[in-house]
Amino acid sequence: MLTTLIYRSQLHPSCKSAQLVSLVEQARSRNTGLNITGILLSDGREILQILEGSEESVVNLFHKIRDDKRHCNVVELIRDYGPRRRFENVGMLLFDLQVKSAKDVLQSVLHYSKLESYLASDDRVFKFIQTFITGKMPPQSGAMFDADKWTLSRENLPFGEGIGLIANQSCQFALQPIVEPTEGKISSLEALIRGNDGGSPEHFFSTLDQDKIYEVDLQTKAYAFALAEKLGIGGHKLAVNLLPMSLVNVPGAVEFLVHQIKIHGLQPEQVIIEVTENEMISGFNKFNSAIKQLRAEGIGLAIDDFGSGYAGLSLLTRFQPDKIKIDREIVCDIHLSGPKQAIVKSIVSCCTDLEITLVAEGIEKIEEWCWLESAGIRRFQGFLFARPQLNGVGDINWPHFSR
Ligand code: C2E
Ligand code: MN
Ligand code: MN
Repeated sequence: MLTTLIYRSQLHPSCKSAQLVSLVEQARSRNTGLNITGILLSDGREILQILEGSEESVVNLFHKIRDDKRHCNVVELIRDYGPRRRFENVGMLLFDLQVKSAKDVLQSVLHYSKLESYLASDDRVFKFIQTFITGKMPPQSGAMFDADKWTLSRENLPFGEGIGLIANQSCQFALQPIVEPTEGKISSLEALIRGNDGGSPEHFFSTLDQDKIYEVDLQTKAYAFALAEKLGIGGHKLAVNLLPMSLVNVPGAVEFLVHQIKIHGLQPEQVIIEVTENEMISGFNKFNSAIKQLRAEGIGLAIDDFGSGYAGLSLLTRFQPDKIKIDREIVCDIHLSGPKQAIVKSIVSCCTDLEITLVAEGIEKIEEWCWLESAGIRRFQGFLFARPQLNGVGDINWPHFSR
């Protein structure tokens, strides 16, 4: 199937812009053999390349380009299919914005292309080209959070040894820190439920009587508060997960929580309740009064797995939480994906205007953290920094600027 792939990248600082010509020469002969056509636009630093050909050859070539040290910050913008090529009979053509004016470049791109048949339909490929040429595409984020310049160093067990399995409980909790790496600070600890065999939340809930789920979900939070007390979390915040129906269906739920928080020496202001985006929408009307009660007690609310559900940003017209946690799916490989980057930028902008704290979850790669930090996010949760630890807080990896 005829595939169009557009990516943007930056010429590596060690690669002089004069080398662009030879780079494109090489590409042209290689691409002719692969039956790939396209254009490469550059202003000497930023690059936009359009590749067209069979899906297999375009994707293979793109993977090679990503590994080519002459480029950095290679980000995929479009992978799309079409009836015909926009750039025929050119293995690869270079348009250098340092040599010609934007107007001339635009004209010659049109001259060399078969774009007319696409233009009537608001062609996104053409729009990317036009925006790049007219300089409306902002440069990629700076070198401050360049993944090559950061290394991790381990802090051992910040709260001491874990407690081990706790007897006489129907379940256990694992804690995972949410960190602010640039400050070297733990911003909160999330309590994740575990079966007594260490099993996942999903497995634990599947072993329960279906009509007991909400009650158990609510009551087990007392163990999480007790654990925080035993470990001595001091002024740190503690986040717990709850199904909204656990607050709606169980009589006196909020009173129960507040009582348990206080008898374990915590303040309600230290506690955050995390509810997933989808659960929030399905039960919104019923959940509304529970939200008011929680807020009245000073307990914080977070939307968990934001971006994985159906509502997205429009949910914020109805309700603004204290905190939003961006779902792992969107965070995964964000440094490589234009669509993911666009979505996260809009979430950042929205949460900045609304003064909602953002957390990115599921960070596994230093490149993901660097991109998100450059986009203005300061709080992170993920295996890169710390794994959940049963009845304790595990080692934390802190990033350090090393060059
Ligand atoms: P969640 O609240 O989004 O919690 C984060 C989950 O992602 C945890 O899985 C955690 O172990 C995992 N995680 C953290 N960092 C990474 C990472 O870098 N990579 C990957 N692949 N995973 C990471 P866990 O503990 O299995 O929890 C799954 C879900 O179960 C939670 O998602 C939460 O929605 C739910 N849950 C946990 N405890 C409770 C509870 O007490 N009550 C209720 N109702 N739900 C709970
Ligand atoms: Mn959560
Ligand atoms: Mn989550």
